[in-house]
Amino acid sequence: MQYQDPSFSATLVAWQKQHGRHDLPWQNTRDAYLVWLSEIMLQQTQVSAVLGYYARFLERFPTLASLAAAPVEDVMAQWAGLGYYTRARNLHKCAQRVVAEYGGVFPADPARLAELPGIGRSTAAAIAAFSAGRRAAIMDGNVKRVFARVFGIDTYPGERKTEEAMWARAEALAPAEGIEAYTQGLMDMGATLCTRSSPSCERCPMAPRCVAFATGRTAELPVRKPKKATPEKAAHMLLVVDRGQVLLEQRPASGIWGGLLSLPELAGHTALAAPAEPPGDATVAAAVQPFGTMESLERLLPVLHIFTHYKLHIHPLLVTLSSRAALAGEQRYAWLDAAAIPGAALPAPIKKLLLDLLGERSQARMF
Ligand code: SF4
Repeated sequence: MQYQDPSFSATLVAWQKQHGRHDLPWQNTRDAYLVWLSEIMLQQTQVSAVLGYYARFLERFPTLASLAAAPVEDVMAQWAGLGYYTRARNLHKCAQRVVAEYGGVFPADPARLAELPGIGRSTAAAIAAFSAGRRAAIMDGNVKRVFARVFGIDTYPGERKTEEAMWARAEALAPAEGIEAYTQGLMDMGATLCTRSSPSCERCPMAPRCVAFATGRTAELPVRKPKKATPEKAAHMLLVVDRGQVLLEQRPASGIWGGLLSLPELAGHTALAAPAEPPGDATVAAAVQPFGTMESLERLLPVLHIFTHYKLHIHPLLVTLSSRAALAGEQRYAWLDAAAIPGAALPAPIKKLLLDLLGERSQARMF
């Protein structure tokens, strides 16, 4: 079978027996309740943070039955401070289901375990391995890091294809004998040797076969999540000035710059990927027409504004009027005095654009 490699598990098991962790409070037991509780607490939480909570939790809820019978508020109170509180709610639900559906005894089959609240595929495998010696593969962040480095996997582990291949590899590598030490070994290696930022390769049993170590790529593997390119959009904005005033439009209450005054736009914010033709003079004149007769049009240099989710290229179309039309019935439009621009509720890039223009053009009596 692809990925099979008995020397990997043999090396790991031998290392775990000699150098791994053996005295954690949830080790050296086959009690599924104790194993399950530790595995849930250890999801997204380090061993050092879990130790105290684990002991106190077991004092309050020494058995699965006592946990299942307790009010959920008591469970939440014991969990307070550990974080990720969905875990506590699911823990309580899971205890009740195991009592109701399995007579208070956790199933040994990882597939059955994975159907219970709060137990994913990897946690189910760990519980089955530690409490029943069942051969099942785990796959958490630590294992992904170890695999990516040892086997030189140079695609992002969060990507579906890579993750599926990692699971297939994990299934193939899990040994028939010694699954407990192997599983614990993977956890120990990830937590103590093959750490995220400073792996101790000189002490690592995998060093002779580790691709990342051999090629000096421990800092590059696992591959980080690829950054999505920020989309780019463009907007053609009318900057109509007349007799010391600028024409503004109130934006809709929701959306970008919701409720603020801004420059009227010709066609909203459109994707740059499919750029529309820049508006011709006649189009601009027609857009200006409800506000007056266009006298001159100047296409100013574009301004770039960066939102959290896209970049906007603003193309200002500076227009002067030969005559102004009344704004009858157009309540969302208003003429603003140039002197009021600094204090007006304008989006930052629009205010800056206007103030820059005001500084440049006041000499030329444009404003
Ligand atoms: S040799 Fe270094 S990078 Fe490779 S598995 Fe060991 S600790 Fe991780």
